[in-house]
Amino acid sequence: MNAQQLSTRLMRVAAHVPVNSVVADIGSDHAYLPCYLVLNGKARRAIAGEVVKGPYESARSQVKQEQLEDRIEVRLASGLDVVYAEDGVTAVTIAGMGGPLIRSILDAGPERLIGVERLILQPNVHAKAIREWAETNSWAISEEEILKENDKIYEILVLEPSKKPVRFSPAEFLMGPELMKQFSEVFQEKWQRECSQWKKIVHAMETTVETPEIIEKKQELLEKIKLVEEVLHGENT
Ligand code: SAM
Repeated sequence: MNAQQLSTRLMRVAAHVPVNSVVADIGSDHAYLPCYLVLNGKARRAIAGEVVKGPYESARSQVKQEQLEDRIEVRLASGLDVVYAEDGVTAVTIAGMGGPLIRSILDAGPERLIGVERLILQPNVHAKAIREWAETNSWAISEEEILKENDKIYEILVLEPSKKPVRFSPAEFLMGPELMKQFSEVFQEKWQRECSQWKKIVHAMETTVETPEIIEKKQELLEKIKLVEEVLHGENT
């Protein structure tokens, strides 16, 4: 992977960035995504934000190598702390982290999102945490995508501010309202994999001593299995 040739996962994230955006890429080790966005006319300017010194240095050298220092600023700080009102950021990308970490980044800087028109988020796991944040903070899901690369399955969520309240059902929180409608093969594979994993855990729990925590965890897993199987069998419409 390099700034001209991204992984499929990052290419799909890039595809959701509107043309002529001012982008803040949070967690931007190597700055491949902002470089690609600027080189391909998606971003007129970009900020690459990194909290760890090593990746921050890699991002700086990448931007220098591409001779994009006049259009991409690499900043060392946590999450949205790299974004200032005067930057005029219109789109934020956060990719390759867990859903709860992405949610905590969004939670930590609501004032930094004023003026932002689109969030393009790619959680590696637990996308539900982002949908919970979206409902609480009135960001609607405009698009969702699911893809498989090197046998790993990734979700991409595109959020836009909503004037109306945003509400999801329990199945939509877990599986994604747009992904449920698309009902793609990758989506079905992801949830079949998850269900069989959960069933194995439930099975293992049946042979262990029942503590209140085990009983609660088992109940939680059984409810998730039921929810997911209803969607997979078309019973949750
Ligand atoms: N976004 C790239 C991608 O999708 O390929 C890099 C993903 S890498 C697994 C996650 C990066 O996020 C790491 O470089 C890490 O240092 C950075 N990171 C983690 N927490 C962060 C935070 N709170 N603020 C900024 N960067 C963060």
